[in-house]
Amino acid sequence: MIDFGALAQSGIRALRAYDPGHDLVALRCHADRALLELGSNENSRGASPRARQAIVDALGSMHVYPDPLGGELKRALAGAHGIDASSILLGNGSHELLMQFAQVFSGAGDEVVVSQYGFAVYALAAQAAGATLRRAPALPRDHAAPRGHDLDALRAAIGPRTRLVYLANPNNPTGTWYAGAAFTAFLASVPEHVLVVVDEAYAEFVDAPEYASALPLLARHPNLVVTRTFSKAYALAGLRVGYAVAHPQLIAVMERVRESFNVNALGLAAAQAALADSDHLRASVAANREQRGALASALRQRGLAVSPSQANFLLVDFGDDTARVEAALVAQGVILRPMGGYGLGDCLRITVGTGAENARLLAALDEVMA
Ligand SMILES: *Cc1c(COP(=O)(O)O)cnc(C)c1O
Repeated sequence: MIDFGALAQSGIRALRAYDPGHDLVALRCHADRALLELGSNENSRGASPRARQAIVDALGSMHVYPDPLGGELKRALAGAHGIDASSILLGNGSHELLMQFAQVFSGAGDEVVVSQYGFAVYALAAQAAGATLRRAPALPRDHAAPRGHDLDALRAAIGPRTRLVYLANPNNPTGTWYAGAAFTAFLASVPEHVLVVVDEAYAEFVDAPEYASALPLLARHPNLVVTRTFSKAYALAGLRVGYAVAHPQLIAVMERVRESFNVNALGLAAAQAALADSDHLRASVAANREQRGALASALRQRGLAVSPSQANFLLVDFGDDTARVEAALVAQGVILRPMGGYGLGDCLRITVGTGAENARLLAALDEVMA
């Protein structure tokens, strides 16, 4: 038999595929009632009705290729953020772009810096590119941002071989965030040839006053990249639309590896319509805020340690009981995300659902933990 792993380039040889959690399709087939899926930080309140209508309208043109430039969506995003369309790169989800930044800007002999408990895709991206991963230690568990990014430690991990730094604000899976002022100081201290990729997949959910998006810093820092997605607050995860904002010349280099039609026609249409429906976004974010607080309190009342979160999920510490609780919940059709892959085997990540979903989760949890 051929050892296909050995045929792969060296970065891929050492790589393990992204762990998407449970096989939900298989679980759905065997469940005797609808699963409660709170493992993937999706937005069960759903997308704007305008996005649905845009998809229906776009179906008639399914036989033609989508706009390879995504011009209309880019112009809408440029208007929304007050930036130039040439500084936007569209992706088949931001996941695609996060992988490509490392592919384009790092390789064998280079280093990519991430934080312990940073989003798993960053490590995959670095390894797939053949670069060496350097993990800066996270903040301690008793910090105000438990296990969150330690910007000083990240800065200290940057060395002469560093090409890229990936960080997320807020971070997945911890839900933690750092203050805008702290990041401004961090960025000012990073050498200009090191690219800093800030993943803002959950930015729309944030209400902490000290938080600031990195987007306004782009004008002064050409080595900054900010990624956003339509998968979370805009509730379009199934359509795969994300984007990066960066200096136009950096975007132009990324364009060299972009697959010409990487965002499909339905995704382009739906994202543009969803972006235009700011009332829907506001309502969705407000509902998440309310439910996030209520769920965190309910879990804390049950004696569980819940990390502070500015996103649409909570990282919850179940201690030695984690594996048993998780398995018992699956048996009840309640799917959370195990965190063993992150070195957080004593935690589960729980997506903040609707009031009814969270009530079902808590009832199941009470049964399992009784
Ligand atoms: C969900 C998520 C994304 C979004 O991925 P898409 O490919 O845009 O769906 C990106 N970064 C983080 C940290 C996430 O949790």
